[in-house]
Amino acid sequence: MNRISGEHGLERMVLEKGAVQSAASYLEQKGFRHAILAADGNTYAAAGKQLEQELTKTDVGVRLCLLAPEPSGDVVADEQALLQLLLEVQPGQTDIMIAVGSGTIHDIVRFVSYKTGLPFVSVPTAPSVDGFTSKGAPLIVRGVKTTFPASAPIAIFADLDILMQAPQPLVAAGFGDMLGKYTSLFDWKFSHLTAAEPYDEEAAAMTEKALRDCVGHVDEIGNRTEAGIRILMTALIESGVAMLRFGQSHPASGAEHHVSHFWEMEYLRRGKRALLHGAKVGVACAEISRLYHDAAYRGMYPGREPAQLRNYGDRVREWLHEVPSKAEIRSLLRRAGGPASREELGIDEELFGRSLREAHRLRDRHTLLRALNEAQ
Ligand SMILES: [Zn+2]
Repeated sequence: MNRISGEHGLERMVLEKGAVQSAASYLEQKGFRHAILAADGNTYAAAGKQLEQELTKTDVGVRLCLLAPEPSGDVVADEQALLQLLLEVQPGQTDIMIAVGSGTIHDIVRFVSYKTGLPFVSVPTAPSVDGFTSKGAPLIVRGVKTTFPASAPIAIFADLDILMQAPQPLVAAGFGDMLGKYTSLFDWKFSHLTAAEPYDEEAAAMTEKALRDCVGHVDEIGNRTEAGIRILMTALIESGVAMLRFGQSHPASGAEHHVSHFWEMEYLRRGKRALLHGAKVGVACAEISRLYHDAAYRGMYPGREPAQLRNYGDRVREWLHEVPSKAEIRSLLRRAGGPASREELGIDEELFGRSLREAHRLRDRHTLLRALNEAQ
């Protein structure tokens, strides 16, 4: 049963060498004539320019929206970037937008797509996150990061020639985002058992398979071989589609993501340059694994023993058995070529301790982290 295309309009997924050419012919065949191509300087050089050239061979006209970076050098999904893209939209004429880049550029385009009703096509330039198909856009509005409803793309064209050129830190971040599924899948089962949160076997199985594929090919991913990049990008897309199918982020986002968001918000407050999402998630996953293993196997709690562990300890231990230890997760992160500890990320001791105590408050979601912190 394939419910994806009907429900969400994601009608085409191409992952191969030369996918950029397929994107151009797809747009032409679909009858689009007035496209906006959104990219930043880096992603324009990596893929945007090539796509623009391909489109000149078709009847699809293209306006370029080269998103300006902040002084830090990063493009940020904030008011200025959103307005820059909106200014390119020609009412009654623009009929399609194209996001060329990684997560942030997609967030800007997917939000404008949602608000204008214009469809968009995704051309990822790095296998760095699982959010390409997300229906939520984390935006920074007046300095505060909030997730707003947004549109999923109608098609993804992931070009292996381009993805294989992606910088190593972005590849390692994509792997870190996938490793985070160890704890997110655990937290999802835990929340279903202890707080009756909704659960979907199919979405869980899909996410778990994607995770295992990545772990089984970690060295190829670390070496950025064609096979490794293909496996990682497939896994990231599948994880995103599992979330689309379920309709919420439970399959792919648990306490490790809440801790990562906590760090991100603090960095924003301090005016520090953002760390890569997946790099934070991978490191946070190792720390959450340690905390969970300590609690379930060694009776070490931040406060009291949570009732959920007293009542469901056997099930929790059975599920945690599937979650590798902190040392194992760190070793996998290293093999993928990414940072493996909070020190390498530059997260200081104070922020780290506070995030473990408070991150669960960022989301209205039951996790073992929440249970541990709220145990009376
Ligand atoms: Zn993520």
